Amino acid sequence: MATYIVLLGPPGVGKGTQAEILAEKTGLVHVSSGDLFRENFKNQTELGKLAKSFMDKGELVPDDVTISMIRERLTRPDCQAGAILDGFPRTPAQADALEVMLSGFKGRVDAVPYITADEAVLVERVSGRWTCRASGHIYHEKFSPPKETGVCDLDGSELYQRDDDKVETVRKRIKVYLTQTTPLVDYYRQRGKLIEIDGMQAVEDVTAVLLPALKK
Ligand code: AMP
Repeated sequence: MATYIVLLGPPGVGKGTQAEILAEKTGLVHVSSGDLFRENFKNQTELGKLAKSFMDKGELVPDDVTISMIRERLTRPDCQAGAILDGFPRTPAQADALEVMLSGFKGRVDAVPYITADEAVLVERVSGRWTCRASGHIYHEKFSPPKETGVCDLDGSELYQRDDDKVETVRKRIKVYLTQTTPLVDYYRQRGKLIEIDGMQAVEDVTAVLLPALKK
């Protein structure tokens, strides 16, 4: 049976970073809804242009658009063994749609690591964040700088700061997270899937808690 892991937590808590590490350790594909929207915008698709208008305001892209994009992604051959979902679902309607989708693939959500941190830490992490243009690899100017400024260690592509990583937009994104996404904490807790993890620790320490918890 395919394995699906949903990473839950506020913007800047390190979901993307942990998803990359998990993908490497498990061989599962990292599927990031934010990366898919950014890729669409880079390719100037209608979906990308629509998504960008919401992303720039720190708001969520409408559920129907997001759900069909993820459905399409999860049916690709590289997701046959499952996926590590980062940034999806973000609303109860998306979580319900995911259940239906995965039952169609004869799969289900196996575990939901829920990573948390204080708002001040989130804002500091996001506003110092640099993202790689080619594949979305993530750096932080203070906590995990690249070897060479502005260049991705892994693929040599340019690093840039996301438009929506500005302090004001980050605060809005955290607010949106608190109202629209936190209901998913109870949603997955009630289903016995939630694994609570303190995201105030260093990246390696979060991974050190996460990996054994997932093996159980
Ligand atoms: P992220 O890269 O996960 O921080 O996402 C960046 C932005 O993409 C969010 O602020 C939303 O505007 C949009 N987005 C990403 N994932 C979703 C989702 N599951 N539902 C709605 N909007 C999303």
